Amino acid sequence: MAGEGKALTLKGIAASPGIAGGPVYRLEAQELQFPTHQVPPEGIPEEIAAFHRALEETGEQLETIKEQVAREVGEDKAAIFGAHQLVLQDPALVDEVENRIRQGTNGAQAIAAVVSELEEMLAQLEDEYLRERAADIRDVGNRILRNFLGVAGPSLTDFAEPVVVFARDLTPSETAQLRPDRVLAFATVTGGRTSHAAIMARSLEIPAVVGLGEELVAGLSRAREAIVDGTRGEVILDPTPADWAEYRKRKEEYQEYARRLVSLRELPAQTPDGHRVELFANIGSPADLPGVEKVNAEGIGLFRTEFLYMDRTSLPTEEEQFQAYREVVEKLAPRPVVIRTLDIGGDKELPYLGLDQEVNPFLGWRAIRYCLDRPDVFKVQLAAILRASAYGKIRLMFPMVVSVEEVRRARALLAEVKAELEDRGEAYDHQLQVGIMIETPGAALTADILAREVDFFSIGTNDLVQYTLAVDRVNERVSQLFETFHPGVLRLIKGVIDAGHAAGIPVAMCGEMAGEVRATPLLLGLGLDEFSMSASSLPRVKQVIRSLSRRDARQMANHALGLNTAGEIKAYMERCLENLNLEQSG
Ligand code: PEP
Ligand code: MG
Repeated sequence: MAGEGKALTLKGIAASPGIAGGPVYRLEAQELQFPTHQVPPEGIPEEIAAFHRALEETGEQLETIKEQVAREVGEDKAAIFGAHQLVLQDPALVDEVENRIRQGTNGAQAIAAVVSELEEMLAQLEDEYLRERAADIRDVGNRILRNFLGVAGPSLTDFAEPVVVFARDLTPSETAQLRPDRVLAFATVTGGRTSHAAIMARSLEIPAVVGLGEELVAGLSRAREAIVDGTRGEVILDPTPADWAEYRKRKEEYQEYARRLVSLRELPAQTPDGHRVELFANIGSPADLPGVEKVNAEGIGLFRTEFLYMDRTSLPTEEEQFQAYREVVEKLAPRPVVIRTLDIGGDKELPYLGLDQEVNPFLGWRAIRYCLDRPDVFKVQLAAILRASAYGKIRLMFPMVVSVEEVRRARALLAEVKAELEDRGEAYDHQLQVGIMIETPGAALTADILAREVDFFSIGTNDLVQYTLAVDRVNERVSQLFETFHPGVLRLIKGVIDAGHAAGIPVAMCGEMAGEVRATPLLLGLGLDEFSMSASSLPRVKQVIRSLSRRDARQMANHALGLNTAGEIKAYMERCLENLNLEQSG
């Protein structure tokens, strides 16, 4: 497969690890041609009926895709198509298209116009979640339009030989067609690590690089073959023979690395000198459980419960919550599940609660503050969690604590709920452990005092970094200042672990730092007991733990804590990892 002329290497975002190369297939956005005529009054009923047939056909196609993705990739990845089905019933779409047809606009034009207006409206919203829905509307809208016109969409499965796909972006509908035996890898102009296409690529183990920018468009005009290195975030267009040789070497290394990660599944997270830690997973809903099983996590270290409260119009009932908690707890038993109570506010809004807009929502009425002020809401959740605790091993955790008073008030409400459950004759775990997240400097600096009030700590570095460095975690303008390895953050972490241990309670971490391999030797050296992270990060963290003695980790942590800047600390940690001789740790 020798390339012609000079190869072009592009850098993008490493979205799904692995490396693959082959012939290029460009997925072009097809401009749909549609009629521009007006519909005469007598033709209007038929035009509206045709629109409804297109909606119905779209609904059936989405159902098929949803079932297929659920079967082949997982329920959680299929959920997006359920959301797409809901769009088909949205009056903002259906009624508005009908209105326009009644005014004489033909169906295709009416659909295209309404979809594009809805998309534009969503794209301008502040809320990132709602902004992302613009792409969903576009995807479903296109599907309805195609069905209305009777035009087939692009196929990503009919290739004579497997290909590397290039696209501006991949819609969920296109992503659902990806098959590892047909699509070797893909690269896109837009998108980030958390875009739907990136998440699917990781599930399907298809190497992918996203966010390559306009350079990809420019470079593609002549490219016939390409190599996509999803581990490094690199794309080579028209590789030279030397590039292909390097490619084969990297591919072999990656395959060996992937084999070793799989073989780690059954092995304990234990250092060569016998120090054992626990590796847990974070989940946002029961749909994340298959990923947890895949890596064989020893428990759930953070079950974010906000999902139960989102995408709805009123608060979930005790029974609804109980069912969801029980499902997770039973599936995990006898392994523990740390359930965190409601953490709304900040970047997570619940429109139906009608909370006022705040100037500084991250410093405002959020998480435990809201719950303590609204015992009517909080006690329902506590009752549901307590009832689920009869079915497995639950640990209860309060978020965003800053003071001892908050812990005492929360525990007092918990005691009230226990008494009420006893009156109702409901069972619960009388040994239920209660812990807090340490995610504010106020809590970290008083960890010795707080440790006397609770059974465990879990350090939430996402917020701890935000509050320690005064850097809004969702403001892109200051994202380069969001520095997990800041010496101040490390000192706080050390203080929390030491205070927890002095009081005889275990200390966990469930912020993103727990899944960051550069931090693994440091956290191990500081004595962290439990690391909880997204399931996909777990094998690599385990690999580092299994290659590093506790003694060396301690020395590394001591050295890192003596350095002056985050840059120095990260460079040092990278050197430590290199010396561990972990192949392909990227
Ligand atoms: C954290 O703050 O580190 C954390 C785990 O909580 P969340 O990201 O849900 O705020
Ligand atoms: Mg937090």
